[in-house]
Amino acid sequence: METRKLLMIPGPIEFEPEVYEAMNVPTKSHVAPDFIESFGRSLEMMKEVWQCPNGQAFIIAGTGTLAMDLAGANLIEPGDKALVISTGYFGERYADLLKRYGAEVVILRAPVGMAVPLDIIENELAGGDYKLMTFTHVDTSTAVLNHPEQLGALGIKYDILTVLDGVCSVAAEEIRQEEWGIDVDLTASQKAIGVPPGLALLLVSQKAMKIWEKRDTPVGNYYADWTNWLPIMNAYEARKPSYFGTPAVNLILGLEASLKIILEEGLVNRFQRHQDMSSLFRSGIEGMGLKMIPRHMNLYANTLSAIFYPDGINGGKFISKINEAGVIVAGGLLPDLKSKYFRVGHMGRVNADDIQITLKAIEYAIGNG
Ligand SMILES: *Cc1c(COP(=O)(O)O)cnc(C)c1O
Repeated sequence: METRKLLMIPGPIEFEPEVYEAMNVPTKSHVAPDFIESFGRSLEMMKEVWQCPNGQAFIIAGTGTLAMDLAGANLIEPGDKALVISTGYFGERYADLLKRYGAEVVILRAPVGMAVPLDIIENELAGGDYKLMTFTHVDTSTAVLNHPEQLGALGIKYDILTVLDGVCSVAAEEIRQEEWGIDVDLTASQKAIGVPPGLALLLVSQKAMKIWEKRDTPVGNYYADWTNWLPIMNAYEARKPSYFGTPAVNLILGLEASLKIILEEGLVNRFQRHQDMSSLFRSGIEGMGLKMIPRHMNLYANTLSAIFYPDGINGGKFISKINEAGVIVAGGLLPDLKSKYFRVGHMGRVNADDIQITLKAIEYAIGNG
């Protein structure tokens, strides 16, 4: 039997035993009273975790890309202007996605390892007639952290909708969605939320819901249309049965368990633990003389790290040596730089032992490269 390896990629991550236990039950009816309660509680707890008490929560079967699609499909009408702040791979994906719904997209791209300076974003917003701006909290291809508080403030100043791709951040990086004026913060279950892949999760401000209500054109995506899902979410929150598409019953049971664990730990503690684990990992990496992709201290994500391979080393071989030492890490994701770096996720239930084991495995790979 193969021994279990430590999964240190940017999702799926290591999940809590209680999450597996909650999921490991015979599947119930999606309208069974106790399942309705689990669904309703999950919607309520999401608002606490996102710190968005008046937002509209959605739990829909799908991946993080569907969560991105839900925001794009519902908030864009043909001809709308959208500004995409790109710090890597997922910014580019958002631009492609918005174009499908007829948006006129302008992309502001940061050089690899950097963020787009605020004054450049502000200049663009001041000169353009934008409806919406997207940005990525942590871009999983570069491990660059954006500061949503500042971008939310720009959104308020220029009265546009702000959409935060929080797939690699929600429940790990600090977020105060409502206070910071972020209209949509979206994620997927398999990242810091700590549930196996299969759920798209988002919180939408009342301002964005009103703009959606006033659309002139129908939403160009049947599955993603909030017209179909809003009554379902409202029903579950009111503890009433309802149906549009069958919910992912067992995943939602896992989500309820994980949200409970997150809130029991407390958001302040949880954000702090992610910071501590990230800096522990970083100091180990720097101690080995390796370099990270983010170019400034305040751009380091707490959920993952992107690290250049040591000089003259074959990346594929390096990763398999790490694997040999019992840890699974991810390769590069940026098309131009793919073979030059690797990525280590440190989010969710990650602890100091996991970090030490991972650092040892990387050391082993360097010594046996
Ligand atoms: C993982 C990720 C996505 C895509 O999520 P999927 O579940 O793979 O569709 C989008 N954005 C960011 C920032 C991510 O980390």
